[in-house]
Amino acid sequence: MRLSFHGATQNVTGSCFLLNAGGLKILIDCGMFQGMKHADEENAGALGFTPSEIDFLLLTHAHLDHCGRIPLLVKRGFTGEIITTAATRDLAKLIMMDSAKIQEEDAARASRRRRRGGEPEVQPLYSQIDVLSALDRFGRCPAYDQDIHLNDAVTIRFINAGHILGSASIIVETGAPEPSQRIVFSGDIGSPGHKLLANATPPPPCDYVVMETTYGDRMHRDLDASVEELTDAINKTIAKGGNVIIPTFAMERTQEILFYLKHAINQGALPRSLTIFLDSPMAVSATEIFRRHADGFQNDVRDAMLAGQEPFNPPGLRFTRETAESIAINRIRGGAVIMAGSGMCTGGRVRHHLKHNLWRPDCSVVFVGFAAEGTLARRIVDGAKHVRLFGEDIAVNAQIHTINGFSAHADQRELLYWISKAGKPEMTFLVHGDFEKGMPAMRQELEKKELNVQCPKLHASFELG
Ligand code: ZN
Repeated sequence: MRLSFHGATQNVTGSCFLLNAGGLKILIDCGMFQGMKHADEENAGALGFTPSEIDFLLLTHAHLDHCGRIPLLVKRGFTGEIITTAATRDLAKLIMMDSAKIQEEDAARASRRRRRGGEPEVQPLYSQIDVLSALDRFGRCPAYDQDIHLNDAVTIRFINAGHILGSASIIVETGAPEPSQRIVFSGDIGSPGHKLLANATPPPPCDYVVMETTYGDRMHRDLDASVEELTDAINKTIAKGGNVIIPTFAMERTQEILFYLKHAINQGALPRSLTIFLDSPMAVSATEIFRRHADGFQNDVRDAMLAGQEPFNPPGLRFTRETAESIAINRIRGGAVIMAGSGMCTGGRVRHHLKHNLWRPDCSVVFVGFAAEGTLARRIVDGAKHVRLFGEDIAVNAQIHTINGFSAHADQRELLYWISKAGKPEMTFLVHGDFEKGMPAMRQELEKKELNVQCPKLHASFELG
């Protein structure tokens, strides 16, 4: 077996690993580089392998940093089969389409600027047509824990990673004529104790492990305390006669918040009269996908869904897809919870809601996800007194809440538990983490347990066995 690393090496994004095993070339994830200084160049650059030679692509989950370069892979000649869970296939379609749309818009904007100088047009990394070609490559959708034989020598299995709906860790086993070996790719591992998603299934004993280290240096805050903080913020704001704005990521965090809001209303912790707007076409579509995939949720949620109940529809929930409906929300003075994208307030409808509510001391903004440096969300979280929105200077008078306990990633203790089940692998490769923080912290912990650890560089390649 030979294993090469073509992304998420010594950083968090661009997951892409190539395994040569049993006469096959198997790619695990083909994600987009995001947020880093040269991300655009990295995405448009060489993949590090020849796409037409790849037999299979196994996809761990539908986040952009894991599936975002799939349309590019297909555009550059990949004709193999993409294997992933049914929920990941549905969500990845949404994510890739949205990504293509953004790239087409960005390229058109850049081209308009160049037109004056007579420079050549800017091409998007890929188009919505390329996404359609990529969707044609999606094949088998295994259930969790089901063995799939890629050929006589190679068997794969997706096990639940508990990170987002459909997420998986992937086990690859090789047999005769090579000596049998087992390698697990963690994908992103979720935090157990999540009330919506089922807990991650730990791996069996393995010869090799490729593991994420996103929160390798951190411990999470208590989830119950975070839900309480959320309901408190809503109750206080509604009592003052204002609105609550929740900037959300369309997939997963939105559905999780809807689930907790419904639960809180049923428990009497929030009023039944609460009006909740989900003002994001993409989040509305993602919620529909969640409704169709009961497996992957905690047993009680799954059983309730199979019995016809609906976990993502608190009373008073209104979906708004149309722009006119979204604009109409601006007239509401109080009593509403408004969830809209983007989560980091870099674009999308949430910016309009911020414009109409941020200056009012009776309103509040509740951040429930990560806010990267340089984003509007981060400036507000860091205490900016004024922000620019649509050319206007807007005062920040609303109450600002940052709730950190909602996390889709396992913390250090949870990662160590997960890998303890892999036995004593010959080598553990650490990926998908901050090279200054999560990765060295995890390396130190694993070396204390006398495990062999590598933090590969981009395009590094290792002969296994
Ligand atoms: Zn992820």
